[in-house]
Amino acid sequence: MRHKKLENTTSPYFIGVDLGGTSITIGILDINGVSITKKKISTFGEKGPDAAMTRIAETIDSLIEQNDIPRSLIKRVGLATPGTMDIEAGMMIAPSNLPSWQNYPVRDSLKVKCRFPVTYAHDAAAAAYGEFWQGAGKGEPGLVVMTLGTGIGCGIILKGNVWSGVHCHGGECGHILIDVSNNARWCNCGQTGHLEAYASATGLIKRTLDFVMAGLDTSLCERVHSVEQKAEIPKILHEEADAGDELAQKIIDETAFYISSGLVSLVHTIDPSCILIGGAMTFGGEKSKIGERFIEHIRQGFKSRTFKVLAERIRIDYAKLGPDAGYIGAAGLAINDWKAEGGENKQDD
Ligand SMILES: [Zn+2]
Repeated sequence: MRHKKLENTTSPYFIGVDLGGTSITIGILDINGVSITKKKISTFGEKGPDAAMTRIAETIDSLIEQNDIPRSLIKRVGLATPGTMDIEAGMMIAPSNLPSWQNYPVRDSLKVKCRFPVTYAHDAAAAAYGEFWQGAGKGEPGLVVMTLGTGIGCGIILKGNVWSGVHCHGGECGHILIDVSNNARWCNCGQTGHLEAYASATGLIKRTLDFVMAGLDTSLCERVHSVEQKAEIPKILHEEADAGDELAQKIIDETAFYISSGLVSLVHTIDPSCILIGGAMTFGGEKSKIGERFIEHIRQGFKSRTFKVLAERIRIDYAKLGPDAGYIGAAGLAINDWKAEGGENKQDD
């Protein structure tokens, strides 16, 4: 008898792995994208990549076992990691959140340990593919998914295919230049004037601290002064903006303006049909008043500075899948590779 969780699913099955600096999400999906199970484990980056690959493989084995899935019905694993990377070679080159993982052959290492073929992708591209396949960007012929967090990630899906660029840097939209002045802000990447320096959580925190240091007398400044963990500032901004603090609202509006500035450059280069905004730094997203204000300001800032036809036709919305987008998209990309290799025509073992 099949396991209950496999009812209403269609074999074969695929595994998605979204590897981040602090956690790894691993899930099993059927060929239509129905999620069967998922598990989040810690990355423990300091223990090195080999140890992490072993733990991923063990988690995959235990998920397969718990759900009574015959191993022969699992066809492929999709693995998404942060850049920089060489996708063709299956190598992590210099991931900024995992400093000791440089030049690591992540694809082949996981393949050996889990004994399945592995498709390798950039995490932002996988998240974008997840939204294209199962989320808010279903069927969009040109989709950009911008993820706002500590940094700014970006995935581009054109006619159903990930656009990674010739050197696997095709989605680095966080580093679009939005300020060419001499006093432009420093970006996490070591250059100045990039979008990420203004509109990521890191940039938002720095801009907020500048206002607070200027000695303004608002409830936002009072709270930011006393907070120990600066990482909590985006959450404080959200709460204060909700409560009507005008400075908090102004900082969030400015963030939206910077993002729309980046989108104007991006859209005039690739001309997509849809842009989705996701990530942890969306001020509650469409479920909150401030989140709605944030995306509306992005839309207006974009519309006021782009060509009329693009302003009228390009949809800007929030992404839908949240942190699940990465593993779902990674599994979807694995399915594409399996199909491209003629998997559907081969008989099941
Ligand atoms: Zn940069």
